[in-house]
Amino acid sequence: MKSAQWAMSAYNAITPSVLLTVLPFGFLFYSSGSLTASAFVTVIILSLGLLEPLIAAMNYTDNIARVGTVMGQINEVLASSEINRTNKKTDINGNSIEFRNVTFSYDNEKEALKNISLTIPEGKVTALVGHSGSGKSTVAKLIAGFWDVTDGELLIGSSNVRDIPLEVQAERIAYVEQNNFLFDETVMENIRKGRSGATDEEVTAAAKAAGCDEFIRGLDKGYQTVVGSAGGHLSGGERQRIAIARAMLKDAPIVILDEATAYIDPENEAVIQNAIAKLVQGKTVIVIAHRLSTITDADNIIVMNDGTVAAHGTHKKLLDSSQLYRSMWQAHTGTKGGAVS
Ligand code: ADP
Repeated sequence: MKSAQWAMSAYNAITPSVLLTVLPFGFLFYSSGSLTASAFVTVIILSLGLLEPLIAAMNYTDNIARVGTVMGQINEVLASSEINRTNKKTDINGNSIEFRNVTFSYDNEKEALKNISLTIPEGKVTALVGHSGSGKSTVAKLIAGFWDVTDGELLIGSSNVRDIPLEVQAERIAYVEQNNFLFDETVMENIRKGRSGATDEEVTAAAKAAGCDEFIRGLDKGYQTVVGSAGGHLSGGERQRIAIARAMLKDAPIVILDEATAYIDPENEAVIQNAIAKLVQGKTVIVIAHRLSTITDADNIIVMNDGTVAAHGTHKKLLDSSQLYRSMWQAHTGTKGGAVS
């Protein structure tokens, strides 16, 4: 846009003033006898008639540039390699998770995870902490099956995920991200994505449990309000609560929670914490924690550092044994509720 702005401005300013040149030059040629009166009139009409299509054609250059960008993005998706999984109907026994010497890199460049081994026990709350870029989300995304590990083994229950069909894995896991994607459909349908086939009553029950029934009923058309492209008509906190309702409806035994802080305002926070407490009851929970004060009660805290596991244990144990955790905790308490990453 920037590189074209001068040319476009000049073009848009000069083209409509075509008569400024056609009239004096035409008159000059007419007076000297090289242009007849009828040809002069024709030239005037033609020059005006040409304007509009020319301007319309120029406007397409903008659209063509946009199409180019979108095509680039689509091609990127199409060109990425598919996840190879078995189609054999296999079930998962158990909801514990284990990483055995897992290495993972996006695009074969830098290793995002370097030979990590960790265990996430069934029915417990495990928190992942670490500075930004340390690999927390990558661990969560591998568990959710967004990618396959590059090296090593990832087990859910006692099965290697490579032997589990992707749908079976997806059914087991509810993933509440920071940027939850909502489809350009009604609120009702967006929550129902958690479990297709759920009745309207089940959807509203999940919304009530997630603390979003009230604000949904306050929307223009209640549950039938269309949320706009990527949920654009709702605030970040509202999208977050709808995502929690969706996860509640799904009622999966493994819950991954990217503890969003970005959108939460104080009013929303209590509601969301409440909803999350209900969502995770009795589940295997993996929390990506940005504020350490929210996970001091976690059964196990895994401290990530530059793609490796630096330490793990309870809050108390880590304060004693991990220099990195201690410094993060001090930074956190020092900034009175500020985010660590
Ligand atoms: P955290 O969640 O701790 O902030 P991430 O797991 O997001 O860290 O990132 C770990 C590393 O992987 C970082 O170096 C990051 O730049 C890289 N990374 C994350 N997502 C992608 C991606 N989609 N493509 C390429 N590199 C990525």
